[in-house]
Amino acid sequence: MSIITQAWSPDGKVRAYRMCSRCVMDTTDPAITFDKDGVCSHCQRFELQIKPHWKPTPDGAKELEAIVAAIKAEGQGKRYDCIIGLSGGVDSSYLAVKVVEWGLRPLVVHVDAGWNSELAVKNIEQIVTKLELDLVTCVIDWEDVKELHLAFLRAGLANQDVPQDHAFFAALYRYATDAGIRHVISGTNYATEGVLPQSWGYDAMDATHLRAVHRKFGTRALNSFPIMSFFKYYFYFPKVLKINVVDPLNFIPYEKQEAIDYLEANFGWRYYGGKHYESRWTRFMQAHYLPAKFGYDKRKAHLSSLIVSGQMSRDCALAELAKPLYTDNELSEDMAFVAKKLSITVEQLEAFIAEKPRNYTEFPTNALQVKWGLRALRLMRAPRWLFNKLLARR
Ligand SMILES: [Zn+2]
Repeated sequence: MSIITQAWSPDGKVRAYRMCSRCVMDTTDPAITFDKDGVCSHCQRFELQIKPHWKPTPDGAKELEAIVAAIKAEGQGKRYDCIIGLSGGVDSSYLAVKVVEWGLRPLVVHVDAGWNSELAVKNIEQIVTKLELDLVTCVIDWEDVKELHLAFLRAGLANQDVPQDHAFFAALYRYATDAGIRHVISGTNYATEGVLPQSWGYDAMDATHLRAVHRKFGTRALNSFPIMSFFKYYFYFPKVLKINVVDPLNFIPYEKQEAIDYLEANFGWRYYGGKHYESRWTRFMQAHYLPAKFGYDKRKAHLSSLIVSGQMSRDCALAELAKPLYTDNELSEDMAFVAKKLSITVEQLEAFIAEKPRNYTEFPTNALQVKWGLRALRLMRAPRWLFNKLLARR
């Protein structure tokens, strides 16, 4: 068990945080627990709940081969057999390369919520040009994005990426439906995302939450912001349209540094310095807003993911954590950039950060809908279960 003392915390006081003996997660996650050896609940969850489903093995490769063959067979005669989202980041860029390597014919969708870094735009161009893929860019109404960002900032919530992430998935599913594509190939993966504390954010797909925050802190109606309702997300897309989401990076050995090296050597792609930093908004949120307002340093979760998946040593992660989140110049530049984009002053932005943080539980969520939805699903399955049971007795 290790105790480390950090000089920073949201209130400026020096505090001691208990850190996991295996990864670099610590008690800045209020829900973290430790076993007798000082190993944290995230490490335990990875071993017990994630590892059994993570298959970077020959068996996983065979399983993926069968999935790819089925997608190809279904897509015969169609222009596209699947859809992928491309942010310009490592995971989605590498996924695009692999998808083409496997012989799939994806429609590529990029959702532009107004925060693309120049590098992200160049990376996207390089990937689609060299792979000769069709790209559609969905530009979200900037006034809507700004309205929602300001509502979430006034609300003082941790997950300020909700509007951006929600729009991404809603737009992707909309394009899939319009193009008659049933298979969504996702870059979500256990290798680089196996550790992510729930207390540091909240589900971006909860439309009830998104609307509730906007109702309380918004100033005007939204124009055309794509919202994925509870019904669409949990029932219409998966059950009626049978949209199938595949996470192929969980079936192959996927190492972040190898992926970066491969993309840089073969596609003129360039790394932008941190997970999700392809968006200037997310970079500001992760490198300043979250640490300054809540004491959350998301690098701890990202680095811990690499540790538990065997891609990085704990010492190496500690050395990374010792580096500053921002240099002074970068912080003041991003601060000015974000404030200008949101049509507020730097002082107003600083005031949002200084105000009391709020937890997502202080706002309505879809928790009740999920509870009753699951009960309804169980009831719908009950007659089939009873029928099978009776059949087995005969
Ligand atoms: Zn741990």
